[in-house]
Amino acid sequence: MRNLTHTATMKAGVLQKPQVIELRDCAIPEPGEGEVRIKMEYLGICGSDVSIYQGHRVNTPLPLIIGHEGIGRIEKMGAGVSRFTIGQRVVIEPNFPCGHCALCWQGRGNICPHKRIFGVLETGCFAEYAVVPAQFTWALPDSIADEDAVLIEPLAVALHTLYTSTARPGDSIAVLGLGAIGLLLTQLACRMGYQVMAYDRVEGKTALARQLGAKAIPAQTSATDLADHWQQAKVSSIFECAGAAPALSMALEAAPRGASIVVAGLADKPSAINEFSLTRQGQQVLSSIIYQHPLDFQRTITLLENGFVQPSKIISAQYPFEELPKAMDAAANGQHSKIILHF
Ligand SMILES: [Zn+2]
Ligand SMILES: [Zn+2]
Repeated sequence: MRNLTHTATMKAGVLQKPQVIELRDCAIPEPGEGEVRIKMEYLGICGSDVSIYQGHRVNTPLPLIIGHEGIGRIEKMGAGVSRFTIGQRVVIEPNFPCGHCALCWQGRGNICPHKRIFGVLETGCFAEYAVVPAQFTWALPDSIADEDAVLIEPLAVALHTLYTSTARPGDSIAVLGLGAIGLLLTQLACRMGYQVMAYDRVEGKTALARQLGAKAIPAQTSATDLADHWQQAKVSSIFECAGAAPALSMALEAAPRGASIVVAGLADKPSAINEFSLTRQGQQVLSSIIYQHPLDFQRTITLLENGFVQPSKIISAQYPFEELPKAMDAAANGQHSKIILHF
């Protein structure tokens, strides 16, 4: 008699090649030592998922189950993991710095050259189940709603970006580019007591920023007029969250004397910089990428636990997981501030 072995399968969103994402039956992954298996409940589509989907990230190995923003429940624990309970609600911190290199020792694991990137360079969470190191799995307090919890990862990015600047509450800052990170940064900064001037080239994106407490500058404003607005408001830090090459050039051109520009966007083309004016005006260019493990996730979860911010306010659409391909197309058209999926 034949010995029938059953491999349990799950539905997973596999990016076959750029623009082609399919729901496939894949083997349910087994958690190894120090890992947990999570039954996913909510997922977020990030700008970087869109950029992988559009084929802009050449180092992503395809086919791949993409996706890195997600919450779910602990379903199985690998050897050596005991700090969770089965069924406990958790969020994934999807960048895994090595912890042993010189940069990690300096507390700069966000730029660790050995960093593993879940859902970008290896299997991610756009699937019914995901396996994650327990060290990068965070228990969620009950007071945080699912729709807020699924935005913890991008909110941690926004928090880290805000903390990269030297601006302090009470200061005037400018946000350039109102995608998810720009909007979350706007919300955080407004709640913390910064004066925020928000700008996006696309008309209609500023309405939400205004609701979140920012002063919005009209989309058709020229760089010269933008400079006047920023000058009058005594803007000391500018956050480039647009991720398009002209944004940094525009920020530098319009930045007041002595201002710092924090680059958080990931433009795939070089920007023009006027070195003469940069130096003469004492401007500073800083950069911010993701977050620091573990502090930034800890801080973000605490802010949500205390009801300080409600990141779910930026969600513009929600799809069932089965409609992932449709949701990816919607995210790629650029009109949405944030799309989430649920199981
Ligand atoms: Zn993300
Ligand atoms: Zn490292």
